[in-house]
Amino acid sequence: MSEIRVRFAPSPTGALHIGGVRTALYNYLFAKQHQGKLILRIEDTDTTRFVPEAEQYILDAFHWLGITFDEGVHIPNNENISYRQSERKAIYKQYADYLVENNLAYIAFDMPHEIERKRKTHPNFQYDASTRMSMKNTLSLPDEEVQRFLVFGKKYVIRLRIPSNENIEVDDMICGKVIVNSSILDDKVLWKSSDGLPTYHLANIVDDHLMGITHVIRGAEWLPSAPLHVLLYRYLGWEETMPRFAHLPLILKPEGNGKLSKRDGDQFGFPVFPIQWKDKDGDITLGYKEEGFLPEAVINFLALLGWSPQNRQEILSMQELINEFSLNRVKKSGARFDFEKAKWFNHAYIQQKTNAELLQFFRPMLLEKGIPINDKYLEKVTALIKERLNLINDFWEQASFFFIRPVAYDEKIIKKWWNEDTAFHLDILKNILNDIEPFDKKHVHKIMMAFIHKQHLNIGEIMSCLRLSLVGAAKGPELFDIIELLGKKETMTRIQLAIEIIDVTNETDEDDDENTVNNNNTNDAKANDNA
Ligand code: GLU
Repeated sequence: MSEIRVRFAPSPTGALHIGGVRTALYNYLFAKQHQGKLILRIEDTDTTRFVPEAEQYILDAFHWLGITFDEGVHIPNNENISYRQSERKAIYKQYADYLVENNLAYIAFDMPHEIERKRKTHPNFQYDASTRMSMKNTLSLPDEEVQRFLVFGKKYVIRLRIPSNENIEVDDMICGKVIVNSSILDDKVLWKSSDGLPTYHLANIVDDHLMGITHVIRGAEWLPSAPLHVLLYRYLGWEETMPRFAHLPLILKPEGNGKLSKRDGDQFGFPVFPIQWKDKDGDITLGYKEEGFLPEAVINFLALLGWSPQNRQEILSMQELINEFSLNRVKKSGARFDFEKAKWFNHAYIQQKTNAELLQFFRPMLLEKGIPINDKYLEKVTALIKERLNLINDFWEQASFFFIRPVAYDEKIIKKWWNEDTAFHLDILKNILNDIEPFDKKHVHKIMMAFIHKQHLNIGEIMSCLRLSLVGAAKGPELFDIIELLGKKETMTRIQLAIEIIDVTNETDEDDDENTVNNNNTNDAKANDNA
């Protein structure tokens, strides 16, 4: 078989939706697997919906995701081929003219308001074989009138002359054979004299042909246009080399009803864009990147939205996806979006990163908070909390107490564990800690447990209140890991602070129904000796 050539052909009308990213990904996997080529073509012929920033956004998004192209708007080429349709304007008209000359298309002069009026008087109006003779076009008007319109420069469009009752077959690699009767299709506009631009349908077919595209892999929303495209290939005499079609299942809302939209993301609180998008009003919508996803995780979960490998493996690297991908195993029915599963993938990919790799993400977060960076310390913190991260952005929530002293103490834990003897017990413990050398978790654990047993103390009370003193809440990694990392001095300081604050608060603030007891001494609360 000749070289596989596929394309991703977005219209630059705004941010790229994850559905579009998945389409690009499947094209990429398919191309790579067959040592073929992936082309990025910008379909910007609809000037009314054109958004100038969208093209750069698309490039940035794929750069972040690691999806690369072999040809495209951003890759210089020797032949000076443009991959931006607005710059290929001169190419399309000749094909529209060819269709007109061969009676397969015609020129129509109807003004938009005339068509509108027709729609009002004929509710099911469709510009097609049954109505076109009642409209203003080269089929219905006398030649002299057509000439007059043309000489006067009256605006016109070129419409495809859809046959009245013909079965058109689309042989789709995913959906199978789809047969559509031409009577449901309207005479689509192919080209407009108003701006000299083709519409999507003509430009798409001409470019796929000229660019030697062998497979058109795109979203299911384009399946209804496929019969029209088949006709265009036939009429242009290109049926022999027509690409094969593969229409991908829709990505559905989390509840499974209907296509996933940006509004669903806003409503349920998950991103639908790969990276941040700023709209024309300056409103920012965060993407997967900004929400704390790794690109590998996004690639992996998108790959499995509508496709699965034979062995049902879930974690697959890009190379494994390339090896395993097949259009045969793409589902016919829609794929339900599941954000919890997306986070599960991200968690798995975070675990695959080394601590040093993860530091790169955490450093800016600390800098932003004005916390001095100590890479060695940060790496140790990372090792302890990594397992608790679903998102990169969970870092501060999970690790803040390694950098700043508790700003509050969980009231529920105080109520449950802190009694009149706790301060006394913690104070002794603090003094014992002072003598432990070397101060590592093994020694601290051994000596502390011996003390607890000897004094017949309640282990739950001591452990919970000690954690409360260090963390401020009942969370975080293993207590002795925290103690070792905070170090002797900081551990002792935090115990002392808790003793002072919590005891005082218990006496004076009995009616306080807040959930936390505040540590007002927070301004200088940084764990300076370590961070
Ligand atoms: N420009 C179309 C889009 O925005 C491309 C559809 C196709 O792949 O044919 O999705």
